[in-house]
Amino acid sequence: MPRPLTLNCPHCGALFQRVPLQSGQWSRCTRCDEVLETYSPFTPQAFLALVIAAFIVFLMANSFPIMTLSFQGTAQSTTFLGAVKATWQAGFWEVAILTGLFGFGFPLLKLCVLLLLFVPMSLGRLPSYFELALRSLGWIRHWCMVPVFLLGSLVAIVKLVDLAQLVVGSGLYTTAVSALFFTALIKLTPTRIRYLAIDAGLPAVPPTVESAPTPACLPKSWALLLAAAILYIPANALPVMYITTISGRQGHTILGGVIELANMGSWGIAGVVFTASVFVPIFKILLLAILLWLTQNRSAIRLRRRTRLYRLVEAIGPWSMLDVFVVILLVALGNFGQLLVIEPGAGAVAFGAVVVLTMLAAMNFDSRLAWRRAGHRRSIRWTADNVSTAV
Ligand SMILES: [Zn+2]
Repeated sequence: MPRPLTLNCPHCGALFQRVPLQSGQWSRCTRCDEVLETYSPFTPQAFLALVIAAFIVFLMANSFPIMTLSFQGTAQSTTFLGAVKATWQAGFWEVAILTGLFGFGFPLLKLCVLLLLFVPMSLGRLPSYFELALRSLGWIRHWCMVPVFLLGSLVAIVKLVDLAQLVVGSGLYTTAVSALFFTALIKLTPTRIRYLAIDAGLPAVPPTVESAPTPACLPKSWALLLAAAILYIPANALPVMYITTISGRQGHTILGGVIELANMGSWGIAGVVFTASVFVPIFKILLLAILLWLTQNRSAIRLRRRTRLYRLVEAIGPWSMLDVFVVILLVALGNFGQLLVIEPGAGAVAFGAVVVLTMLAAMNFDSRLAWRRAGHRRSIRWTADNVSTAV
């Protein structure tokens, strides 16, 4: 009789027996509350159709202009890649590379990897590169920020609408649909694809019991977090962009931009930018520092809540890139010779670095270590107690 399949909880290290789920059911970790698996009627063929649709919409979103700005008789329009190019030409290659990778490179790579997996899987074959593709997908999926770019485009519209005449392009609508597809594809994790292959009768290797977490991740996470905390100061103190008009050149910091939006009466958007760009980075840095410190000191206090907070840090990580996406759009659109020029500032480079460093610090920290150091050992629960049903 074959050994039952295991479900590894990635956040606390508990192991469960995998039980076939029925419609409306999901499997949850009884120790830390993480949802381990949800029922899905989708077959590899259905996922292939979803990925192909996402691919077509993504290419369309990057082909049509997002918006056009008209100022004193001249017009300027841009696509996402046009904005990246304009930032590169302004001499800010670091910002251009980061935004280019997060908004285009990694999302495209993710869709390509999914296509390479689902084309043979839907034909009833397991590709020879299956394990390699799952490993790459596990890393790439954290860095796809199409929904963040969409929100950045909406903030850019609010900022530009009073400055000059603005026409929204079809690229914005297709970006919105593309963001929906990427949100739907978030749940397609490497573990999920592995089970999908097993359920389809393909000879995929069943998930192995992961090796125990080691404290080696702690010093690295501390170093990344410290670097992020130091860079948070120039990220807020230095201008993220400069606006030159006939009345002179003026630097704009992130906090200055929030105040400007509030003065324009856009309180909602000002609140979104403040939350994403000011509150989220400092919240992530402080919270991760507390989580690392408690783990280092073998604390058993509120482990379940700490794991939930760690999941929150992981989920909100990419949203801090919002203002950097706003800057590259404004740079591409605000180029009207002597009348109006918008250029990136050093604050945008520091800010991009803070986002990457905090995300790396969170990814590097193994939250299973908190449970292990508090004395919880892995235990296999060969029961279906962890399955919940929607009522
Ligand atoms: Zn768990």
